Amino acid sequence: MRLIDSHAHLLSGQFDADRTELLQELASNMEAIIECASAPEDFAKIEALMREWIFIYGAVGVHPEEISAWNEDAACQVEKYLHIPKVLAVGEIGLDYHWQPQTAKKQQEALDAQLSIASAAGKPVILHNREATADLYSLLEAHRPLRGVVHCFADGPEIAERALDMGLYLGFGGIVTFKNAGIITESVKYVPLDRILLETDCPYLAPVPQRGKRNRPDYTIYTAQKIAQEKGLSTKQVIAAANANARKLFGLPEPEKDAENQ
Ligand SMILES: [Zn+2]
Repeated sequence: MRLIDSHAHLLSGQFDADRTELLQELASNMEAIIECASAPEDFAKIEALMREWIFIYGAVGVHPEEISAWNEDAACQVEKYLHIPKVLAVGEIGLDYHWQPQTAKKQQEALDAQLSIASAAGKPVILHNREATADLYSLLEAHRPLRGVVHCFADGPEIAERALDMGLYLGFGGIVTFKNAGIITESVKYVPLDRILLETDCPYLAPVPQRGKRNRPDYTIYTAQKIAQEKGLSTKQVIAAANANARKLFGLPEPEKDAENQ
């Protein structure tokens, strides 16, 4: 069974030396990869990548760490790129108070505007949260009902319940395999299988046993194994469910029958 990575950054400089070779390898074991933008300068590069590789899809948005790139023109760019059929979501967007607490207000404005753009376009959102849980969820409340995913979910079951109540999916990546995963493990157990997505956030956060190395989309297999172990399921069951969830949320095409049975 092939994998879906619902959150990747293959345009990162860390892949510059061997991007084509890596993508050739991934073509055999990945059903789909969603490449997430951080700023408008990424959008044309994502478009080019999607054109070259059939299994690459895109998300366009302004990441809170790139908040200085947010302005009216950026909003127009997001709207424009959402017309491309392989651009499936607005992302990644959200709040990050770890790196830039001083820009909190502007981050909230950018998130608010991009949530509205997504809803007007009928597209789901890919949400980033770092040390901003209270503000993020109160802002999201105003946009219910929501279609989207809280990527790299790192909170406990109480926050997981809030996200699920809003209609969101939870994206789990390499950190669920870390020894200090703590409350994230509780959330993995708590969240129903039909609301889980697999992701890498590559090149960052490689799962155990590849921890510390450059992450890559097919390492989602290790995260799937860990989730299966925590939930008392087979890895195949977790992958099948996560793939079905990703297809449903993002409107990804159904795989060819032969590929699915492998
Ligand atoms: Zn990311």
